[in-house]
Amino acid sequence: MSDSTNDRAKDPLPKDRAKVVIIGGGIMGLGLAYNLAARGLTDVMVLEQGYLCYGASGRNGGGIRAQWSSADNIQIMKRSVEICKSFARKMGINIWFRQGGYLFLAPDEEILAGLEKNVALQREHGLDSRLINPRQARAVVPQLNTAGIAGGAYNPQDGIVFPWPFTWGYAHAAREMGVQVYPHTRVTDLDVEDGRIRRVRTDRGDVVPEMVVNATGAWSPVLAGMAGIELPNRPHRHEILVTEALKPWLSPMVSLLGHGLYFSQSMRGEIVGGISDPDEPESLSLESTTRFATRFARTAVEVCPSLSNVKVIRQWAGPYDVSPDGHPIVGEVAEVRDFIQLVAFTGHGFMMAPAVTELCAEWLVNGRKDPFFERYTLDRFRDGKTGFKAESMIIG
Ligand SMILES: Cc1cc2nc3c(=O)[nH]c(=O)nc-3n(C[C@H](O)[C@H](O)[C@H](O)COP(=O)(O)OP(=O)(O)OC[C@H]3O[C@@H](n4cnc5c(N)ncnc54)[C@H](O)[C@@H]3O)c2cc1C
Repeated sequence: MSDSTNDRAKDPLPKDRAKVVIIGGGIMGLGLAYNLAARGLTDVMVLEQGYLCYGASGRNGGGIRAQWSSADNIQIMKRSVEICKSFARKMGINIWFRQGGYLFLAPDEEILAGLEKNVALQREHGLDSRLINPRQARAVVPQLNTAGIAGGAYNPQDGIVFPWPFTWGYAHAAREMGVQVYPHTRVTDLDVEDGRIRRVRTDRGDVVPEMVVNATGAWSPVLAGMAGIELPNRPHRHEILVTEALKPWLSPMVSLLGHGLYFSQSMRGEIVGGISDPDEPESLSLESTTRFATRFARTAVEVCPSLSNVKVIRQWAGPYDVSPDGHPIVGEVAEVRDFIQLVAFTGHGFMMAPAVTELCAEWLVNGRKDPFFERYTLDRFRDGKTGFKAESMIIG
């Protein structure tokens, strides 16, 4: 998708300084802007090179789940699910949140054993997840073909949202409180002097910041590079499609582990789904391919034969923002003061943003720094401190 508006002559920005300059108008940037403003810090500017929802935040599957393999991710997602429940009422925007559950299918005993461990951990953290056999999986989705399925895991509290109104909801509420949100404003360079970013250069003029937040998702290595910081996360295209609307028949998001397949039914009746591609090279390409449509259709129809007669109406692509250990890169960097990273959330940044941006604002405004912002800093890749078990519940 080209962003032709960036080629137009641009009006200069109406403001040339801000306490906090957030670069990236996706769910992370806008969620943080909202949460800062909600805590009284309103001298905040969000700079977005395209339209709001141009990046992964406008291109994802809307899956919201607490079924993870690490305690950190489970805890974060428990909070995010809570925020999702009250978001529509609080923000006055319908986010089409539906808690139909998430059903993970294991194609073999090894993956099933992993699910068993995860379910035990999730239950320790108070989730209602359960390990299920193929018959029980069919009780959740009667249309499933369970041949070749060893079992699965199911949590009825997981769900889906429609990502666009969710992102717009944060933007609107942040603006209402005084945050300046500027779409079609590309950051072109960062001037670093004496270990701080003194000037954020954009194609609409310069801004003098006190603090800069890198919330540019898959573009973040480029952005950080402008300040001389090398990030190890890399962009990978992830394709997705939507079918014609059907009568409601599919309650949970279904995911076939080991294949990276997932699909759910939106509240409007469409099936929305994707499949990861192990051969996808590193790139920021947002092009669509027939290879994806074919691979998705083949696997989805195997899992759910009734999908064979359904018409695809649209497909698109977005960037996954992938770090070497599958965990995000957040918090401070050693070389540049007051330059906060909020990136590398792979294929689950949307669902994590409500809780992560709340925690981040609590730190930046009230000084209460959650260990999350110490544990997942860039430093872990430098001093070999990482040692984190890779998250096993990433789809893609
Ligand atoms: C196909 C697909 C399916 C997914 N499914 C799910 C899912 O079901 N659940 C889930 O939780 N997550 C999912 N994800 C992942 C999720 O979408 C992302 O983790 C999340 O949206 C990241 O948000 P972000 O704000 O960090 O990045 P983005 O939404 O990508 O925002 C970054 C923004 O920065 C802007 N930017 C970049 N460079 C500059 C610059 N120089 N100047 C100004 N602006 C700039 C970009 O234009 C972009 O809008 C999926 C992703 C894809 C691609």
